[in-house]
Amino acid sequence: PAHAATLAVDDLSVHYGGVCAVRSIDFSIAPGESVGIIGANGAGKTSTLKALMGLVPRSGGRITLGERDLGKVPARDMVRHGIGYVPEGRHVFPGLPVEKNLLLGAYARRWDDETRATLAEVHELFPVLGEMGTRLAGALSGGQQQMLAIGRALMARPRILLLDEPSMGLSPKLVSGILDVLLRLREEGLSLLLVEQNAKLTFGATSHCLVMENGEVAMTGSAQELSRDERVRRIYLGL
Ligand code: ATP
Repeated sequence: PAHAATLAVDDLSVHYGGVCAVRSIDFSIAPGESVGIIGANGAGKTSTLKALMGLVPRSGGRITLGERDLGKVPARDMVRHGIGYVPEGRHVFPGLPVEKNLLLGAYARRWDDETRATLAEVHELFPVLGEMGTRLAGALSGGQQQMLAIGRALMARPRILLLDEPSMGLSPKLVSGILDVLLRLREEGLSLLLVEQNAKLTFGATSHCLVMENGEVAMTGSAQELSRDERVRRIYLGL
């Protein structure tokens, strides 16, 4: 993967026809930093991630990794620049065994000792994926599928992991399992961009956060600052 560098998003906008879903947003993720984006349904979080990845067209804006311009890099090549992506809704391959799903995450790598070591690390992080290696991914529970989606992204050995709403549809217990995993990945030096409706999870897992409303960044601050903000507490934490 790429050497340590800051991923910077400048003046990014997304339009669907005449509708502006993301309006000129900026943020950056330094090596080892974890950034969260919270917002209600439809605030533009998914569109931001997809535009970053090149999965939807950007209307203006720059994406850079250190000095390198990623503006023209197609989504499938982002992984070669060290950027991993866990899409909303997991999108595992239900008809393929768990192990095959994991190996597909390493499509840009050779099957060598390093890749085997990554598979062992993923099994260590998610023992259930090793235990259920021969089961079809479609037979896993929602929580297990989310782990598989994260494990599959890790198989590419990214430097930066983008996660789109990993808590979706999971019980509080499983959400706290996701939090543990994210904290562990952070400890290992992985940079994270976590997009979530679950503000509590996001404040727990990240150090810097953005609040998106109607396609714009309404607030930014440290997770600590935002979790103490009166408005954030009322609207996003339900306190
Ligand atoms: P969610 O929690 O559902 O993922 P979000 O914050 O990620 O919400 P987006 O999915 O990015 O929000 O949607 C932002 C806005 O863009 C919404 O108003 C949505 O209806 C609109 N939108 C999203 N995708 C499309 C599309 N393919 N075509 C037209 N409008 C879209």
